[in-house]
Amino acid sequence: MQVLANGGIAAVGALAVAAGAALGWPLMLGSLAASQADTWATEIGQTAAAPPRLITTGRPVPRGTSGAVSWKGTLGGAAGALSMSAVGLAVGLAAGPILAGGIGGLVGMTADSVLGATVQARYRCGACHAEVETARHCRTATQLTRGRRWLTNDMVNVIGSSLGGLIGMAASLV
Ligand SMILES: [Zn+2]
Repeated sequence: MQVLANGGIAAVGALAVAAGAALGWPLMLGSLAASQADTWATEIGQTAAAPPRLITTGRPVPRGTSGAVSWKGTLGGAAGALSMSAVGLAVGLAAGPILAGGIGGLVGMTADSVLGATVQARYRCGACHAEVETARHCRTATQLTRGRRWLTNDMVNVIGSSLGGLIGMAASLV
């Protein structure tokens, strides 16, 4: 599921490129940039000294909360998106699709955080009373406290990476 969530749309872009469609490049780059940005932001954000803040309200939340952001994590995410721009450079793409892919990546990363903070499924474990993202915890079923059951973390990643690709494609047309 995670591979599909992060790579599905990028694979569609790659197939489009193989079929000779230039628009496949920004679709693939934007989607990969969004996944990459999200991953780097999460990993690098975890090393920040100050607690992160929720992207929607700005209030400090525990590390690892869905939708939590920090300056360090955001800069790390931007670096992740840039790493895909470097791939675009390496394969000899023009500045337009590279820039478009980068924009898609940043939009996708932001969408991922906003969805994580608002509609992603969140549960409370009846045994340890922790707020969790899974339907089971401590070997028992958890209670849905917010969001939609089908909007799992993987699903939010699908939306973030798809949006990254689509915005990348749209930006390259502009
Ligand atoms: Zn528990």
